[in-house]
Amino acid sequence: MASQAESLIKPHGRATSARLRVLEILLAAPHAMSHAEIEAGLEAEVCPDRVTLYRVLDWLVSKELAHKIAGEDRTWRFNAVAEDRHGHAHFHCSRCGQVFCLSELQPAFAFNLPPGYRFQRADLTIQGLCPHCSGQA
Ligand SMILES: [Zn+2]
Ligand SMILES: [Zn+2]
Repeated sequence: MASQAESLIKPHGRATSARLRVLEILLAAPHAMSHAEIEAGLEAEVCPDRVTLYRVLDWLVSKELAHKIAGEDRTWRFNAVAEDRHGHAHFHCSRCGQVFCLSELQPAFAFNLPPGYRFQRADLTIQGLCPHCSGQA
């Protein structure tokens, strides 16, 4: 049986072990992951160096299997793409610094554009405290 990562990658190209492993990590991640966090979960034999990781991430992003989010701290974070293709809001926790994908939350302003404007995608990052940091988890 093909894994989820494998069936996502197959229509776009070769399912190399590095591509598979990186996408698996992103699919399993509870929040968007920085390069360093992804690297920490990678076995050396799958992805021997940082250049390979950057290349794999670029490839996943170009195939819309992953998306990258520019953090307030100027760190790029990555997550597997959610079903929606029109962008979703992100939540940046000001205490722990993690970035979460709020896939259910479509930026509503994007769909109330003045006449003549055509929506493509929206980047909305909400600042606040995540459930863990606000003590609600
Ligand atoms: Zn937090
Ligand atoms: Zn996201």
